Amino acid sequence: MVSPGELRMLLELTEGEGEFTPETGTGGAVEYPRAAQLLDDRDEQVVDVLERYGTRGVLAGEFVSKVYSCPECSTQGMQYTTACPSCESAHAVETTVAEHRACGLTVPESEFRHDGELVCPECETTVGSEELDRDERYVCKECDEQFTEPDHRLWCRECLYMFPPQETIERALYRYRLTDDGREWIEHHRRAREAAADTLEERRFEVSIDAAVEGEGRSYPVHVFAEDQLLGERRIVALAERPTDEDIEEFSELARRVDAHPIVVTTTGAVSEEVAERANTSELTLLSARSDGTLDSDFDVGRTATRNRSLFQRFTSAVDVPAWKSQ
Ligand SMILES: [Zn+2]
Ligand SMILES: [Zn+2]
Ligand SMILES: [Zn+2]
Repeated sequence: MVSPGELRMLLELTEGEGEFTPETGTGGAVEYPRAAQLLDDRDEQVVDVLERYGTRGVLAGEFVSKVYSCPECSTQGMQYTTACPSCESAHAVETTVAEHRACGLTVPESEFRHDGELVCPECETTVGSEELDRDERYVCKECDEQFTEPDHRLWCRECLYMFPPQETIERALYRYRLTDDGREWIEHHRRAREAAADTLEERRFEVSIDAAVEGEGRSYPVHVFAEDQLLGERRIVALAERPTDEDIEEFSELARRVDAHPIVVTTTGAVSEEVAERANTSELTLLSARSDGTLDSDFDVGRTATRNRSLFQRFTSAVDVPAWKSQ
């Protein structure tokens, strides 16, 4: 299914600068603010929607960067830190360490400093600067461990856990644009929506496109909502490339909630045998959107894509209003 929010979001790319760019929001979470704004609450997370249309070939993603999410709490935007290999504390600081060659004491150079002189804390004698060997090291403020190679960790701002980078969830971020196929895809879907609206309008429904329908105290976004207030008749329209049984079940349930008759428009003109079966037996209208922008009640069933004309009659009658109205 193509949700109304998804189509709204994709249509936005046909205008203006035509791209969705990732931005880092509060706490380092990655957002596509413009795209997210166009989706509905019922839609998936914006990053997942964009990725799905990227895989589908409707969108092309240009690599921007990567973001890491916490495996514990899923918060995005983990922060890099070095950590002590001995006690795992991040409070390990790169420090200039000095070794008193005579006695071997090796401590941060600052511990030799005493009233403007260098004094060995071990020998308790003044030492010359040249008697010390200096080195850059990490010193752990928790356990005093010294080391040159710290552990690499990513820490989560939310739950404060630290993880080795390979244990976190890595996600590549892309700047999304429409592909040429994508433009055609959107145009086809926009026209299918238009055609459904026109067809219902011809049948004297009051029609709104990309509308919200109220039912059981909630509001549901639909591609097309058609209402005949006089007769108390309502129709809602879903778009799907190739609707699955699950899609149909979900949309029929929505239709029940808003007390409307469900019309599913397949934009590939194909459905599975299960779906065709269902259309044949339940209160559901299934239509195919043709590339010339028209709708018909003829569709391909199953993998063999053979035409199933036997279902034709049933579907044309389902969008109709009673006979007296069209006289
Ligand atoms: Zn430590
Ligand atoms: Zn010493
Ligand atoms: Zn976390």
